[in-house]
Amino acid sequence: MQWETVIGLEIHTQLATKSKIFSGAPTAFGAEPNTQACAIDLGLPGVLPVLNAEAVRLAVRFGSAIQAEIAPRSVFARKNYFYPDLPKGYQISQYELPVVGKGLVEIVLEDGTVKTIGVTRAHLEEDAGKSLHEEFQDFTGIDLNRAGTPLLEIVSEPDMRSPQDAVAYAKKIHQIVRYIGISDGNMQEGSFRMDANVSVRPVGQEAFGTRAEIKNVNSFRFLEKAIQFEVERQIDLIEGGGTVVQETRLYDAAKDETRSMRTKEEANDYRYFPDPDLLPLEIDAAFIKNATADLPELPDAKRARFHAEHGLSEYDANLLTGSRELADYFEVVAKESGEPKLAANWVSGELMAALNKAEKELAESPVSAPLLAGLIKRIKDGTISGKIAKQVFEAMWQGEGDADQVIESQGLKQITDSGAIETMIDEIIAANSGQVEQYRAGKEKVFGFFVGQAMKASKGKANPQQVNEILKRKLQG
Ligand code: ADP
Ligand code: MG
Repeated sequence: MQWETVIGLEIHTQLATKSKIFSGAPTAFGAEPNTQACAIDLGLPGVLPVLNAEAVRLAVRFGSAIQAEIAPRSVFARKNYFYPDLPKGYQISQYELPVVGKGLVEIVLEDGTVKTIGVTRAHLEEDAGKSLHEEFQDFTGIDLNRAGTPLLEIVSEPDMRSPQDAVAYAKKIHQIVRYIGISDGNMQEGSFRMDANVSVRPVGQEAFGTRAEIKNVNSFRFLEKAIQFEVERQIDLIEGGGTVVQETRLYDAAKDETRSMRTKEEANDYRYFPDPDLLPLEIDAAFIKNATADLPELPDAKRARFHAEHGLSEYDANLLTGSRELADYFEVVAKESGEPKLAANWVSGELMAALNKAEKELAESPVSAPLLAGLIKRIKDGTISGKIAKQVFEAMWQGEGDADQVIESQGLKQITDSGAIETMIDEIIAANSGQVEQYRAGKEKVFGFFVGQAMKASKGKANPQQVNEILKRKLQG
């Protein structure tokens, strides 16, 4: 039997406000436990929540970025359940009437295909506190600092068909929230958490299979692995005669498996009802205009422009629009060097590799965009070959100056004097008569040996094209 995977994601992203969604308490990460939750966040008797306009502004920016309709009227509801990190017994969230309606985002797959993924809705809600299990023995600590922190929960349509689709979509949402400045997206600090709903169905069947929901995944790599595991588990289960039950599961990264947390029968009935302390949220055109006036060029638009304007492949355009900083860096290199394709190769290749190796952020790169552009200019005008350029890049990375200074001080200028190259090749041919005979007897692979010798003799500086031409001519002789 052939199976098809169906995935829908729910993503909680923490909004970058200074204060909580319904109170003036601060949202800063890392404070001493239980120093940042006020009476409102704790829902003590007699308090009145007041909606933070900044949280609404950020949600509206997101809605606009995914071409969604902003609800003129939305409603906050109480989602009732008991948990030690939720002492007030309910979470304020939006249920039937969310602030952001249907929207869409585009993802680019490995082979460059563009696919549209629907967003069902995005709603505002408050976060709960946190249970601390690891720091203590024999008991659990509760830190309520996070209670009342504003979240935007972004729910997708079940439009994804593979773990790779899901990762591309999650990365896209992560990219958008950072581009438009509504969240820092910091996954270690829990500012971006993903729940994956996963089911399988026989290829060709229209009805969806029963889904399991994997909660609180906090890295893209784990998301991919968790879904992969879950798909295999469900297929094995069904093929072995069993049935998938609707349940919540947790991904254990150490064991690389998902485990059941609770089944639907044990699931909470939240008894949602409109929060009597909060008026419906009404948003008019002027508020939307204000909130979205300074939105930057968005990733999809930027990607399309990089494709059209700089002639990049969908894949490269997608990669280089990964963050605003990276896109800006690339555009400076492309403009100053006048060689967008070379610029794309160098930024996505050599530069990224060096940053990864040094575990540095782009902003800390010792090779700035103008410096890299200067290097590419010297490849373009034939001063150095692409191979020597890597050596120059390395020296620039070590802080030895710009491309011209490194080329000068290390004597790396390409040898293009054909007389000099001929002399050198004559010597090589004379010294390797055995290989010459082999070549002339039809063993063409030996040609590579001669190229290698010539590059070695010139310390990589001989113009490779000239070396090839002259070698061909002389070896035939
Ligand atoms: P709930 O109200 O229980 O959270 P929803 O209908 O809102 O359920 O769906 C939650 C998420 O699950 C959405 O992202 C949706 O796309 C996804 N989803 C729904 N049905 C399936 C399914 N059969 N397989 C995979 N994902 C699904
Ligand atoms: Mg849900």
